[in-house]
Amino acid sequence: MKIFDYMQKYGYEQLVMFHDKHTDLKAITCIHSTVLGPSLGGTRIWNYADENEAIEDVLRLAKGMTYKSACAGLNLGGGKSVIIADPQELRKDIVRREAFFRAFGRYVEGLSGRYITAEDMNTTTQDMDYINMETNYVCGLEHKSGNPSPFTAYGTYKAIQASCKAAFGDSSVKGKRIMVQGIGAVGYPLCRRLFADGAILFVSDINQERLNDAVREFGATIVNGDDVYSLDCDVFAPCARGGGLNDETIPKLKCKVVAGAANNVLADIEKHGKMIHDRGIFYAPDYVANAGGVINVYYELYTYDEAVVYRHIDRIYDQVLEILNTSKTTNVPTAAVADKMAEARINAIKNVNSIYLG
Ligand code: NAD
Repeated sequence: MKIFDYMQKYGYEQLVMFHDKHTDLKAITCIHSTVLGPSLGGTRIWNYADENEAIEDVLRLAKGMTYKSACAGLNLGGGKSVIIADPQELRKDIVRREAFFRAFGRYVEGLSGRYITAEDMNTTTQDMDYINMETNYVCGLEHKSGNPSPFTAYGTYKAIQASCKAAFGDSSVKGKRIMVQGIGAVGYPLCRRLFADGAILFVSDINQERLNDAVREFGATIVNGDDVYSLDCDVFAPCARGGGLNDETIPKLKCKVVAGAANNVLADIEKHGKMIHDRGIFYAPDYVANAGGVINVYYELYTYDEAVVYRHIDRIYDQVLEILNTSKTTNVPTAAVADKMAEARINAIKNVNSIYLG
């Protein structure tokens, strides 16, 4: 990838690499846009095959955050960090972990508030507390808004309800066959809500213990590997890693709705957004469906009130419905409709910011 060409094409502001030789921290932070406010996005730890894979991931994820916050009506830009490390290894050494995240916190402090971090895959509220020992540009802290995942799960549930309304004429999940791929921090509490409201659950994960819990708690049926795509179900809720919907998997889908929490669910937004649209499947754009977590941490930057947070997340229902209906009437894929909504807000506010205040 020609990084500067890519940054130019998609309007990226900054890409920074951090290394701390004492803890072997290898972090990459990307600031896609600060038009609406400071860039905010979580820090993900992943065992990337190489640096290029990590850079591609952080670039994509940071842009997604810009669009997510714009659509959710937040005064935030988009950023993200990835750390190249083995999550299992890092978990074993608590002393190294503290130093590792405190070193990362000092680098974040060095960005002077252009980027605010939070949890993401394989980072915890404890890690955020370590970062907070070195910088205030971190949220999702244990003693403040806490773990964002249950809020993300709630927003994803709202997106599923709205998609059911558009696809089946009724928002209820009762009796609907729902396939949840990945039952981790978001997927599991999502299953809990779906089960409480009468959904028939199918689950997949690479963690057998979680699968056993879901069978016990929700009477869920386990589905293995790629069988998730061809399962005869009403709703497919991807809640593992992104990129699952591609040339190979989209033709297999038997569901009428795709709505889940995973970021970058479509391998190629344009191409696969169109493929899914042409198949008549209702796709709730990922960054709209999974905005509950960022909405929750956003309020930590102001006055945190859980009731206000839930009311804000409730709006995801109307937004998803509006996107799906617009897509139906204009014959434009939902992913493109959402992008246009985000871009319209960013461009409008860019003009507001040009007013000189003296
Ligand atoms: P997590 O790591 O807690 O859960 C992911 C789950 O997926 C794990 O149980 C893992 O074992 C499982 N998994 C991994 N590979 C799999 C595979 N091939 N098939 C089936 N299961 C697999 O992560 P999370 O916080 O629940 O996040 C899930 C997704 O939602 C991610 O894409 C994340 O970026 C996105 N997301 C999360 C939040 C949040 O608040 N946590 C917010 C927005 C978006």
